[in-house]
Amino acid sequence: MDRSRATPVANKRSDQAATQTSRTFTTQTATRPLLDITLLPSLLQYVDNDLLRRRSEHNYPPSENNFCSACGKLHDAAKVRSTYLPLTCGCWMHYRCFIDHVVGQDANRRGHKNDCCPACGTRLFIWEGIVALTLAQRTVVWMPGTKFAWRDSYVDEHTGYLVTSDKSAYESDCALISGLIQKRFLDMFAPNAPAPRYTDGSPDLTACYYKVLQDLGSYGRPRAKWLSFSRTGAQDGSVGLSMFGMLVTLKMRGFMIEQHSAIVETEGWADFENAREELRGKILRDVRGSGWSWAAVESA
Ligand SMILES: [Zn+2]
Ligand SMILES: [Zn+2]
Repeated sequence: MDRSRATPVANKRSDQAATQTSRTFTTQTATRPLLDITLLPSLLQYVDNDLLRRRSEHNYPPSENNFCSACGKLHDAAKVRSTYLPLTCGCWMHYRCFIDHVVGQDANRRGHKNDCCPACGTRLFIWEGIVALTLAQRTVVWMPGTKFAWRDSYVDEHTGYLVTSDKSAYESDCALISGLIQKRFLDMFAPNAPAPRYTDGSPDLTACYYKVLQDLGSYGRPRAKWLSFSRTGAQDGSVGLSMFGMLVTLKMRGFMIEQHSAIVETEGWADFENAREELRGKILRDVRGSGWSWAAVESA
């Protein structure tokens, strides 16, 4: 996705120059209108492009006595040290306080949804559970295991798990993914399985991967909040959808290496690895655009 942004202009300046002009840039960003809701970025695009790349503004609040709009503490008095930065709505807060809000565990909630600024309520990005989970893990924020009301609990008909919380829903979906990977892999060795298309006779792991995805779709998965993704948005799928695909490839890769390590030398494996790399490249392009390098952003 090629979204042109104003922020790289600030990043090209030297640190000193950027510091001197940071308020100018802050003001410009704060008044930027969000007119078209369909242009909202994915949560990951928002964090990695709109927030973390604006380093020249980080830790330079508008005043010495600036209080975090999320936790209410003085900007340099957070319990856990964290970058202090402005959201695109103009509210300043600790990065960890922002992430706490995104995953729904900020202590001072004002009723604003996870895709909105916790302070002023402006809608900022498209929220997807699997993206929020990834960001929480990257920031080492603990994932809340919200318990369901008893009437919302259920037994997963495909795994037999008793699902009573977001955490157990996540575990049940993961167990289903692992079970389907195993089943679809063994199917390739059944007597009626189609002949392998590779000269070395190795199984078509890429086709196996797509069958697992198809199965998951037909079962209405993922069901878990922390694996959910948007089914609208970009034509070739949301960032969350790509990340869900990546999760499945990584589980499949782990299964192969641990239980069928001989497959690593095969043509089928090489194709599967190429497909995984392509998907990784797509996520990078979608999130950062083609002009940015992966290493340019560090966790705040
Ligand atoms: Zn804070
Ligand atoms: Zn705000």
